[in-house]
Amino acid sequence: MKSIRNKSVIVTGGTKGIGKGIAGVFAELGARVCVLGRNEPDGAATVKALQGRGSTAIFCRGDVKEQGDMEEVMATVAAEFGGVDILCANAGIFPTVKLEEMSESAWDDVFATNLKGMLFSIKAALPQLKKSAAGRIVLTSSITGPLTGYPGWSHYGATKAGMLGFMRTAALELARFKITINAVLPGNVLTEGVSDLGQAYIKTMAAAIPLKRLGTVQEIGYAVAFLASEEAGFITGQTLVVDGGQTLPESLQALDSE
Ligand code: NAP
Repeated sequence: MKSIRNKSVIVTGGTKGIGKGIAGVFAELGARVCVLGRNEPDGAATVKALQGRGSTAIFCRGDVKEQGDMEEVMATVAAEFGGVDILCANAGIFPTVKLEEMSESAWDDVFATNLKGMLFSIKAALPQLKKSAAGRIVLTSSITGPLTGYPGWSHYGATKAGMLGFMRTAALELARFKITINAVLPGNVLTEGVSDLGQAYIKTMAAAIPLKRLGTVQEIGYAVAFLASEEAGFITGQTLVVDGGQTLPESLQALDSE
């Protein structure tokens, strides 16, 4: 993935978790990286760590739910880095609410961040991506929704499946600009957000994964970097599951058989 060197990359939700891992992989590959999020101390710490390893990185404060924020960030990055080649639309939230307790505001909050936020970041980046010789959009969807379900995540799963529905039409509309759009579908990855779900959740999940561990944020970052590379230039509108085999077993027996 030598083609990533010197590319200008924006990672939404890059201040922690999977986004921080994605930003780290791009920085390692020689890209110039903008980490986007709302939390300034987290953003500053992430950028400091990347710069400490000799990378070009900046933090831009922005809320993906605000179209104006996204337009401002794209303008800043275009001015700092001379354009935008790669957008990683990764910011997302996953609060748990059972169907019977689901309020309109709980539903709307998840949709506003995970789906509308994805749209606003893509719309704002498009003028810059169109100018790139190899514009790329990579979405962070999930196995939850497109492939699996989990109690408490009906709204979340709907947004993550919705991202893929959006992607398939976007791929057609963006092809004329030579922009590709693809999605990674992470399984369970050890992040700050997942740590907040508790040790019992993490232990149960690790047991349900054939590789018997959660993924690392870097492992998601490498999959994203591949889809963003020029080497992946003929792939668009596709999904890449990165889940340690979690979605494979037909039964518990299949999972534990020697
Ligand atoms: P996380 O540790 O909670 O981090 C979430 C990131 O999103 C933070 O950087 C946060 O930044 C940012 N964010 C949230 N709302 C935002 C907003 N309105 N505007 C801008 N940034 C916002 O979560 P994660 O586990 O890394 O998840 C990242 C993505 O991966 C999500 O889309 C999630 O659905 C997906 N995913 C995660 C897993 C997993 O196992 N971890 C599995 C499948 C899919 P600020 O706090 O600075 O705003």
